[in-house]
Formats: sequence, structure tokens, C-alpha cells
Amino acid sequence: MKDAKPTCEGRIKVPYKWFVGETGSRFFAALRDRCEIWGTRCSRCNKVYVPPVKNCWGCFQPLDEWVPVSDSGVVESFTVARCPDAMFGLDPPVVYGLIRLGKASGSLLHYIGEARPEEVKVGMRVKAVFADRRSGNILDIKYFAPVRE
Ligand SMILES: [Zn+2]
Repeated sequence: MKDAKPTCEGRIKVPYKWFVGETGSRFFAALRDRCEIWGTRCSRCNKVYVPPVKNCWGCFQPLDEWVPVSDSGVVESFTVARCPDAMFGLDPPVVYGLIRLGKASGSLLHYIGEARPEEVKVGMRVKAVFADRRSGNILDIKYFAPVRE
């Protein structure tokens, strides 16, 4: 170890912000201001993207048609994390789900709340629970909760 370079261990916290772009801004403003979820639709492929994208991933056509999407949908897939959520510091277990909302062609990754991990199932109906205080980011949706009939 005589030739090893000396090192120091540590952590660097680097707070940052970035512009989410025109498409992201419109999506997040609708969440923040009206508790509405919107997507972009490709008229050629008839796909609805949620979260919205600026260009279709199938045909690359620019997307300028915005469509409202239901705030409820189904769990397409999920996983349970048994360690603290590194991004937001949630206590385990944390359930992450891919949620297909209404007529959306894809899924939105988010938390699933108000359910024990063993209650969560693929195909389960869930509905968005919006945060009381919203600031224009994906956590304006607090989580998706099971729709209990
Ligand atoms: Zn397309």
C-alpha cells in the first residue's frame, strides 16, 4: 500500500434546480394549479404519453395536442423497497408502482400509499391523492391510493 494514493472519504451535497422544459412546465403547472393530469397525444400513432413528451417515441412527430387524463388507473407493476427512499427519505417499506392512467399508452412511476405492501396487486385500481401544498413537481401527486369498492 506504500504506492497507493492518499484519499479522503466524504459526502458532497449538491443542491440543484433545472428547467423542466416547456412540456414539463405545462404538465407540472396543471398538477400544481388544478390537480389535473395531462398528456400529449400523437395523432399518427394515437398514443397518449403521460408524463407528456415533446416528440412521439414511435414516429418522432412533434406533439402539440394536449389531452386530459384520468387521475385514476391500474397498477401495471410494482416493487417494494425495504430500505429508506433515498430521494425523499420515506420510511420503508416503500411501494413504487407503474400506474397506467385512463387512456394513457404508458405508465407513470410513483408511490403507492394507503396500502400495506401485501395488499398491492397488479391490476389494482388506484387514484391520485394530491398534496395539500403543491409546488409544481411530481410530488404534487402525493401518491396513488387503492380505490376501495
Ligand atoms: Zn407517433
